Amino acid sequence: MSLLPHHRAHDYRALIIGWRAVAQKARLKMLVLTEVSGHKVWYLESTGSRVQQEAIYLSSGVHGDEPGAAWGLLKWAQAHIELLRKESILICPCLNPHGLIANTRVDHRGEDINRRFHLEEDEVCGPWRRMTQGRHLKIALCLHEDYDAQGCYVYELSRYAEPISYQILQHCTHAIPPDSRSKIDISRARQGVIRRRRLPRDMVGLPEAMVLHHLGCPLTLTFETPSEFSLDDRVQTQADFISAALSFTLGLGNTEK
Ligand SMILES: [Zn+2]
Repeated sequence: MSLLPHHRAHDYRALIIGWRAVAQKARLKMLVLTEVSGHKVWYLESTGSRVQQEAIYLSSGVHGDEPGAAWGLLKWAQAHIELLRKESILICPCLNPHGLIANTRVDHRGEDINRRFHLEEDEVCGPWRRMTQGRHLKIALCLHEDYDAQGCYVYELSRYAEPISYQILQHCTHAIPPDSRSKIDISRARQGVIRRRRLPRDMVGLPEAMVLHHLGCPLTLTFETPSEFSLDDRVQTQADFISAALSFTLGLGNTEK
């Protein structure tokens, strides 16, 4: 049986209804970051003193043609209500609602948001920068999908000496194996892991992960599932990645029964 009715993959309203239910159960605030092209862009955060603590940052829906990431994040959240109540949390479930609805990488202006996170004046990334400014993050997971991918892979931006993504991938790639190519996009990769300290020379504009890294987040992982694989497998693998990443880095993430 399908885990997700396929016609709802690009239903922004259904996605937000799902997040409202999570926010209520997990006692998270659900706030409007901005409104673009008639759609509210939401974020969720912990309440009370937990806002001051080091937070777990989770983001998806930066690119609208990557629905496995957006629904995978929701699926993970629905299964981890207790964790969401206990931890300090900051979640951006879909920064590009127009793109999700239209099934496009770009946003309502035809812009790739993930090259605009350095821009204070941008109508999406500007409010995002003000919202994240001064926050202390302990881990950030930026969830994406890739049409060219032949399996799952991770960009790891880390202040730790040892890589962690190999271990994480071992625990979330049951349905979809790690991408085995030695060169992914333009980066050198090994067993689905790309470790990065700086941006490729030809990249214009900063992606979300790089800005989070610059903000001082010690571990920022950008996870990619292959868009051409089954949607159900991608959704499940995204949810499993979040569980595995939090489990290995923070000792969190076991699925609640
Ligand atoms: Zn993407």
